[in-house]
Amino acid sequence: MERDYLTNLPNRRSLYQYYLGLPQDMKIHAMFLDVDNFKKANDIHGHNMGDQLLVCIANFLQGKDFGFVARLGGDEFVILMDGIMPTNQVPGLVEQLLVDFKKMDFRKDVLSLVSLSVGVIRDQAVTQPLDDILEKCDNAMYQAKMSGKNRYSLYSELDSILEVNRKLEKEMEEAMQNGDFQIYLQPKINMVTSELYGVEALSRWVHPVEGIRPPKVYIDLFEKNGFITKLDLHIYEEVCKLKASWKGTKYEHIPVSVNMSRLHLYDRVFPERLEAIAKRYEVELPELEMEITESTFVKDSDELIAVVSKLKEKGFLVSIDDFGSGFSALYLLKDLPVDTIKIDRGFLQSSTNDARGKTVLRNIITMCKDLKMDVVTEGIETKEQVNFVISCGCQIAQGFFYAKPMPVSEFYEFAEGYIGNAKDNHTFRLNGTLVSEDGSMEGQITGQGLYFAQGIFSDSSSLYFPGGGQEENIVVLPNDIIVSDSFTISMWIRPKSVTAWTSALFVKFESGFCSIVPYAWEGNSCCRLRDATVVNGWYDIASCQFRENTWYHYVITYNAKTEVAVGFVNGEPVGRLENVPTNRFVNLAYIGGDMYQPSFHGNICELIFYNEAKDYDFVKKLHLSYTESEKFIAFDK
Ligand code: C2E
Ligand code: CA
Ligand code: CA
Repeated sequence: MERDYLTNLPNRRSLYQYYLGLPQDMKIHAMFLDVDNFKKANDIHGHNMGDQLLVCIANFLQGKDFGFVARLGGDEFVILMDGIMPTNQVPGLVEQLLVDFKKMDFRKDVLSLVSLSVGVIRDQAVTQPLDDILEKCDNAMYQAKMSGKNRYSLYSELDSILEVNRKLEKEMEEAMQNGDFQIYLQPKINMVTSELYGVEALSRWVHPVEGIRPPKVYIDLFEKNGFITKLDLHIYEEVCKLKASWKGTKYEHIPVSVNMSRLHLYDRVFPERLEAIAKRYEVELPELEMEITESTFVKDSDELIAVVSKLKEKGFLVSIDDFGSGFSALYLLKDLPVDTIKIDRGFLQSSTNDARGKTVLRNIITMCKDLKMDVVTEGIETKEQVNFVISCGCQIAQGFFYAKPMPVSEFYEFAEGYIGNAKDNHTFRLNGTLVSEDGSMEGQITGQGLYFAQGIFSDSSSLYFPGGGQEENIVVLPNDIIVSDSFTISMWIRPKSVTAWTSALFVKFESGFCSIVPYAWEGNSCCRLRDATVVNGWYDIASCQFRENTWYHYVITYNAKTEVAVGFVNGEPVGRLENVPTNRFVNLAYIGGDMYQPSFHGNICELIFYNEAKDYDFVKKLHLSYTESEKFIAFDK
């Protein structure tokens, strides 16, 4: 038998001879061993030391007495074992081998550099060529190396993955041509307002025979073989087509997001490519959102910042997906002009019912809001999680609690209940009735002496409030007049006799209140926002004096995203406050009084609640819509 000159182990040729000599009805297990970092040890400590290490390893393997040990060359060894050994005992043997290897009697500084990667194959009939067995074994060894070294990998498991992947690779191009990659939509919902916030387009491989293949089967493979870039652009184009087909319908402006692999970052003209496709279908760029996963941000930061900036310049929305799933590059957030952070499902699962997790989540959400980014929480499955996430300050959710990803055809029915929910206005003209204009809500009078009197138009009325003690002679409104964090309130007020700090309108939230006061300090009117969670949480927008027996059009807008509150009198801004904290959940709403002060004396009409912040242009137009009416009589124009 030929032996290796260095280690005295049988060499490659001897291995083949031995194999051919085995009885034909026999089965074997085989191991392919490769020394990790052998080259490094050689470089650092010299060839002589490297040779000594190989000799030591050879003796070690031989000493294990597993079976026939051979050195193939370099730092590669093979062991053939008799298949009589039960298959399930093999992994244990290899594990022990890896442990014992580190305990070999050899110089520790050299030994600490190296380890073994082992590929294992079991129950092989010796009727097949040894080359086939060694090749599979080698593949398994390679897999072990790729997944981090100092470990072993079993061929059987690997085999199935490789097999499947080979099949998928064979089929993917044709599937693309046949249109088998389709989009499923998963809604993002505003949990507070039950309003549709947007949808995410997720790919599904709809196989003509096998049915739906979920992304977990093919995304990793496509990332490896590069096909993902084709898939992403295909999905993106399908989304553009879909958006185009929504023109003129109520779905028209729903933002749709698509996932973009990090491989696109190496394509310099990627943003231009996306832009050209959107143009072809005449889709607005700010209604298309690119989701890029967090892990990308660590690996390819410079490329990423460049591409994200370019996408933003062009007008696309960009979000960071799976935030919190890896090593969040928090510092990057300050340089990255993204619109939205999507908090990973795993992060939510590990923080619910955990005080520390809650603190972290709450702070991430606060930070994102400070940076003017939206926050979407992914993977919400239960009502408890809904409450938890809202209490942490996030309103937008994507998760099975609301809906699983669904075919486009099913989306329309789902969306029915979620479109146009929040942006509803509630108008109480108080023109002879306490019912809102759409008939959906009604105020209730508490007390006596309220009646309808002349309004701001020649043919309209207003509600007259006689004044009185606290919570006397008022109108109580339903709590769901405001369901959104951002809001606008518009009303016409005519004080008869003024009492300091009396509210014309008072909305109490779980965490504070908003009160419109015709007469506050120095006789000025004021809108007071209160954050009851802190001692000094008083936010007052003082404005001009309201004279008695004079009509004023008062508007307050609050934008929860920018945390800016603005007061308007007669169509013009009179005061503006920044950093006003968001109040949530209306507990009660009164016209003409509040919980603390005497009630209002005078007239009120044309009261409108909008569940969103309005801007100056809107307020100005609204004001003109009153004053430019032929019938307007409240004051001289
Ligand atoms: P993703 O971008 O994080 O998408 C959300 C995934 O979470 C979806 O899985 C969705 O079904 C799942 N999910 C949403 N809510 C819940 C929940 O409440 N509970 C649980 N258990 N799961 C929930 P899906 O559709 O299987 O997609 C998996 C991943 O594959 C996606 O994760 C995305 O990273 C990737 N992917 C899918 N389609 C594409 C594509 O066209 N291009 C690229 N680059 N990646 C894609
Ligand atoms: Ca995504
Ligand atoms: Ca995600």
